[in-house]
Amino acid sequence: MRYVSTRGGGEPASFSQAVMTGLARDGGLLLPESFPDISAELSSWVGLSYQELAFEIMRFYITDMPEEDLEDIINRSYSVFTHPDVTPVKDIGPINILELFHGPTLAFKDIALQFLGNLFEYFLSKSGEKLNIVAATSGDTGSAAIYGVRNRKGVRIFVLYPYGRVSPVQEMQMTSVTDDNVHNIALQGTFDDAQLIVKKLFGDLEYKDKFNLGAVNSINWARVLAQIVYYFYSALQVMEKSKSESVSFSVPTGNFGDIFAGYVAAQMGLPIKHLYLATNENDILSRFFNTGTYSIGEVVSTLSPSMDIQAASNFERWLYLRAGRDAAKLSAWMKTFSEKGHLEITPLETGEIDSLIKAGSANTDETLKTIRDFYNSSGYVLDPHSAVGVHVALNAGNDDSPVICLATAHPAKFPDAVDRATGKQGLATTPQIEALKDLPCRREILPNDTDTIADYIAKTIRNG
Ligand SMILES: *Cc1c(COP(=O)(O)O)cnc(C)c1O
Repeated sequence: MRYVSTRGGGEPASFSQAVMTGLARDGGLLLPESFPDISAELSSWVGLSYQELAFEIMRFYITDMPEEDLEDIINRSYSVFTHPDVTPVKDIGPINILELFHGPTLAFKDIALQFLGNLFEYFLSKSGEKLNIVAATSGDTGSAAIYGVRNRKGVRIFVLYPYGRVSPVQEMQMTSVTDDNVHNIALQGTFDDAQLIVKKLFGDLEYKDKFNLGAVNSINWARVLAQIVYYFYSALQVMEKSKSESVSFSVPTGNFGDIFAGYVAAQMGLPIKHLYLATNENDILSRFFNTGTYSIGEVVSTLSPSMDIQAASNFERWLYLRAGRDAAKLSAWMKTFSEKGHLEITPLETGEIDSLIKAGSANTDETLKTIRDFYNSSGYVLDPHSAVGVHVALNAGNDDSPVICLATAHPAKFPDAVDRATGKQGLATTPQIEALKDLPCRREILPNDTDTIADYIAKTIRNG
């Protein structure tokens, strides 16, 4: 399988090149040249373990690695999950909950980042190179990336987070990792400041090449690939159990990475009736899928901070497919958007923007009410991100297929929202988070200054 840029530039890349580069050289995103049609295989996949299924799906996309090595990487990546099913499905009243939070940092990003960390180590061991990952985080990505690469050979990670502006749990999850290759930088600034510094470091090509800087953004194709697996895994179980020919999914959305994996699963032939795209008050994507107008607004802080995003980086992949894989058309759309902050797409003949994607959003009150009502009726505690998805699914009207709602974080990561919603203390706990409180803390508090950060990274690399 070869990977092409959404902007049409450069030679097609192999999987390993796509993983190690992240972004295509022309600034586009990489996508497989075509999607395999698995309709014929699908029924034979019923009953496979998560790891076996991951192998069956990934082998279509990863053709530059011996199959035994791929199997080994998959097994190592998912053996750290605490549930034997990796991503179990729970039947809770009118909907199914797909729990994606049984990894080391209790959020769904572990599923992709455990796999990506092992891929980095594998490809670096082949090339003999060393990679220095630099990432800015507002919380969840940083800890999942740290757990993905801690202790991996050939790779170091520097995570910049806004000092005093991430939740205590998120900070402890990052700073309690004291492996030699992990460096937490508590920046005396905001998340935007951290992101700007990272952008500047990558923009300085001499510095970037000298220190072989790498990224773990959600635009990395390997992250999307790893997420395709649980759509198949849960759909097969729910279709089997409910004797249904198709399923629908509800996906709490920020950067459009998770839902795009579901979109790819549908292109491969998984019978998905609808994908409910669920946003919080930062609703640029749900407005787009309802009106065809993509127009950027201000980012507001919500109860579901990992979805507080306006310009969704993975959206370009959907646009490229909507343009019929016409890179010139896509490039023109992106140019219009970057110049005007605004883009219009003509609806399909049916009047829809996409026949698969139905979009909705939940504000703060609706999110709290969903947590409360769901807990009162079923005893199940949702985290605020997952609650946004459940709200949209329950308000979408009748869907004649069973609905699977993706639960993207463990409620114990967001105890304040759960307490506020239910009026009860201590519903959202887990021993993993309790144990964090006793661990050591390692971080470097540094001023909001690009040169200071650049020097700190350079010095750390030279010393070790
Ligand atoms: C990152 C994240 C999301 C959003 O996922 P995208 O792929 O960015 O759409 C939702 N919920 C949680 C808990 C997350 O960490």
